[in-house]
Amino acid sequence: MSNDRNTLLMDAATRGVRYLDSLDNRTVAASPEAIERLRSALAGNFPEKAMPDREALEFIDAFGSPATVASAGGRYFGFVTGGALPATLSSNWLAGAWDQNSFGFTSSPAIALFEETALRWAREALGLPDSSAGAIVTGATMANLTGLAAARHRVLANVGWDIECDGLFGAPEITVIIGAQAHASLIKVLALLGLGRERVVSVPADDQGRMLAEALPAITGPAIVCLQAGNVNSGAFDPAHNIVPRAHDAGAWVHVDGAFGLWAHACPDYAQLCNGFADADSWATDAHKWLNVPYDSGLAFVRDEDALHRAMTITGAYLQPSGFRDAIDFTPESSRRARGLDVWTALRTLGREGLAELVGRNCRQAAFLADGLRRAGIDVLNDVVLNQVVVSFGSDERTRSVIAAIQEQGECWCGGTIWRDRAAMRISVSSWATTQADIDRSLAAILEVNASVR
Ligand SMILES: *Cc1c(COP(=O)(O)O)cnc(C)c1O
Repeated sequence: MSNDRNTLLMDAATRGVRYLDSLDNRTVAASPEAIERLRSALAGNFPEKAMPDREALEFIDAFGSPATVASAGGRYFGFVTGGALPATLSSNWLAGAWDQNSFGFTSSPAIALFEETALRWAREALGLPDSSAGAIVTGATMANLTGLAAARHRVLANVGWDIECDGLFGAPEITVIIGAQAHASLIKVLALLGLGRERVVSVPADDQGRMLAEALPAITGPAIVCLQAGNVNSGAFDPAHNIVPRAHDAGAWVHVDGAFGLWAHACPDYAQLCNGFADADSWATDAHKWLNVPYDSGLAFVRDEDALHRAMTITGAYLQPSGFRDAIDFTPESSRRARGLDVWTALRTLGREGLAELVGRNCRQAAFLADGLRRAGIDVLNDVVLNQVVVSFGSDERTRSVIAAIQEQGECWCGGTIWRDRAAMRISVSSWATTQADIDRSLAAILEVNASVR
């Protein structure tokens, strides 16, 4: 039995390594044929008979691997997608074997300890206040939810309302202020928290997507101001140094969505972009983007630990506090995987130097791509201040055709967006795996495709 088990697991590791080796010699997008083959292979009802483990693994590799997107490789520039650092993939595999329920110290002392350290180091890397409490969640969406749940608790507690006990019906109203370019996930979270997708004050943005500080309305009563560190298209940062003091003077809570942008702080060349954000009250960021850990992983930090604890704490007769930090009291999730180990491994194997190098390299690669595109007469629509490039290839129609042709050609992958009412292509350089050779190859491919589209 254990021999079969070991053979199976070694086979999985071998296949994983072979997959990673194959990424350089395949199209970045999955081919339509590969997707169709998997779809037909998965047809049919729940089978009566078991498939042997070895055969299931073979099936997954044969039909699944070709239908994946090669986002673990160096030429994927879609969304904001980091490849998993090899060290974090290794820790992730070992943690899979551990199969810990990481909700608290009692259920997994190992993960509780790794997680506590990971949060402490991440807080340092991001330049956030020492005393702030942290939570490891599934991504920036849930990190936004975590920060905003703490915000909702505090601004209502300040006017004598206990939101966790009494709910939102009949509660004093909260003014929620967001930028016109706030990320879609923040809007979704406002809906989940009962604050409303549209029941917000939206502050106009400038040509880079930054909130216009002078357009911030006067704030009275319970209020939450949501800032952004790193616009998902342009990479631009809201003027925190200007807005945070004014929001605080009015008694508002300031939350920061810094899914990837907050990591600029880890690189001295780009850290000044984060000026003023550490003065906020809560912060959401991703670990699976620029920290390059496996999916899914995000971090929330909250200056007011009591507000976070009250928003998230759980009570149950069989869930006694361990006396140590129990993640279950700081996160929306209860049972959860060992995300803290991946985060610890990334930070430990990069160190401050490696993290600075990763962030700096990706930013310089983005600038290099932007220069190459501009030199070829292609329109770069944003100031390339970080790792994001927004590109137009002419009319909306032509831009969409070029994006589709780039994806189909398969040398690299870039997605589309709407930027200031124009169709545009996004390039997001966010992976440790991206080399200068990848950048040269991708630039050449984009220029070639652009030249071939009418
Ligand atoms: C990616 C992103 C999010 C959502 O993050 P998930 O990890 O997908 O939950 C939120 N805000 C910004 C600015 C982002 O770039």
